[in-house]
Amino acid sequence: MSLSLAIIGGGASGLAAAIEAKRESKKVGLQLSITVFEHLNKPAKKLLATGNGRCNFCNTDLSESHYFGDNALIKDVLSSEYNNSVKFFKSMGILPCFENGRIYPRSEQATSIRDALIKTCEILNVKFTTECNINKITFKNNKFVVCENEFDVVIIATGGNSQKSQGSDGSGYKYLKDFGHKITDIYPALTALTVNDKSFKDLKGLRVKGNCALYSGRKLLKEEYGEIQFTENAISGIPVLNISHFASDKKNLFVFLDICNEFTTDYLTKHFSECRYKSPALRTEEILSGIIPQKLSYFVMKRAEIKENTPISKLTDKNIDSIVSILKQLEIKIDGVRDFSYSQVTKGGASSNDFHTKTLMSEKQDGLFACGEILNVNGDCGGYNLHFAWTSGRLAGASAVKYLYKKVNLQ
Ligand SMILES: Cc1cc2nc3c(=O)[nH]c(=O)nc-3n(C[C@H](O)[C@H](O)[C@H](O)COP(=O)(O)OP(=O)(O)OC[C@H]3O[C@@H](n4cnc5c(N)ncnc54)[C@H](O)[C@@H]3O)c2cc1C
Repeated sequence: MSLSLAIIGGGASGLAAAIEAKRESKKVGLQLSITVFEHLNKPAKKLLATGNGRCNFCNTDLSESHYFGDNALIKDVLSSEYNNSVKFFKSMGILPCFENGRIYPRSEQATSIRDALIKTCEILNVKFTTECNINKITFKNNKFVVCENEFDVVIIATGGNSQKSQGSDGSGYKYLKDFGHKITDIYPALTALTVNDKSFKDLKGLRVKGNCALYSGRKLLKEEYGEIQFTENAISGIPVLNISHFASDKKNLFVFLDICNEFTTDYLTKHFSECRYKSPALRTEEILSGIIPQKLSYFVMKRAEIKENTPISKLTDKNIDSIVSILKQLEIKIDGVRDFSYSQVTKGGASSNDFHTKTLMSEKQDGLFACGEILNVNGDCGGYNLHFAWTSGRLAGASAVKYLYKKVNLQ
């Protein structure tokens, strides 16, 4: 008896689901034909853009604290037997390389990951239908109907709502809604924080290491250390992307940057005070440029209301206090978060309340599964989102086969 599985979405989680479903079906001796429906002209386009073209596909620290959203989903997916992405890719010939806990393919090329997934699907005889346009998925006479074809089971793997140009346009939410699923409010995450401050124009292109603390009013929401990048109207970089998750649904936002993280206020105050006597002829910007990039030195002086070319010997104690306080707590008023066309992931999605979280099967419709970013789970920057995509995809793929196997053997 031949059975059929439709996977909607040929991205990270959809391809992982296809591979695991084929492997599981061979294991249990079930004849299963799989069709992946992808609305772009090729599967897995987004993968090529991940990790700046290197594909940071996993991390050595996979603790739950790196994930946000529905706790039951996070816990059950991460504790499943499919929670080993390095082993999964080794089985397709990919060796890993490690960089501060981040895991990349040894080739450091995202194409290796995409090609391995597609090639493995082809070897396993997975069919692809590209440039498809699925209006609706229905369930009639015990079968799912997708583009006028009938299937025994369906996995929705259409991703979130981030970066439409890479294929994930939020269209998949509707398929789940049609079956009575609840979708939470969604927001852009892992995105830049926008700034409406003309003086930021001078900082464009600057990168500095520091601590980044996000506040809503007086409440500290999150802080992270790392390299902060400046554009003329936004701040970005890994620490900013990570804190953006906490900003997207909040108002009255401020970021305080400590761009001299390794020095205390007292140490810096003493340093400037000593410079007044030891090198009185040096200009303030010259002393500052011994600590921070030159562009930033002028910015700090403007903020501290100290004119350019002011000799360090002319600075008052108050001037020094104000420079040090800017170095330790540079206040930036945040306008908001960059939208879905820029964000790497989507916060929110299909609620875990409507799924059996250990199998990812819908509680609303037997035989319907979902995986990846469409679910209400998103992770930090560092390989967490792809790891969740592979793991949830494999869990959904294997669960779909186990469900079919049980159904066939009960008949
Ligand atoms: C620029 C960028 C860099 C990133 N870098 C990293 C990184 O280095 N590490 C990391 O862990 N994460 C990274 N991410 C996040 C990661 O890529 C996603 O979380 C992950 O790809 C989600 O997998 P998914 O399968 O759920 O969705 P996707 O990978 O988005 O795949 C969904 C697929 O479904 C298709 N589709 C959508 N709707 C339909 C429909 N209606 N019909 C048919 N097909 C449809 C889409 O075209 C797409 O191919 C990055 C994201 C971006 C945008």
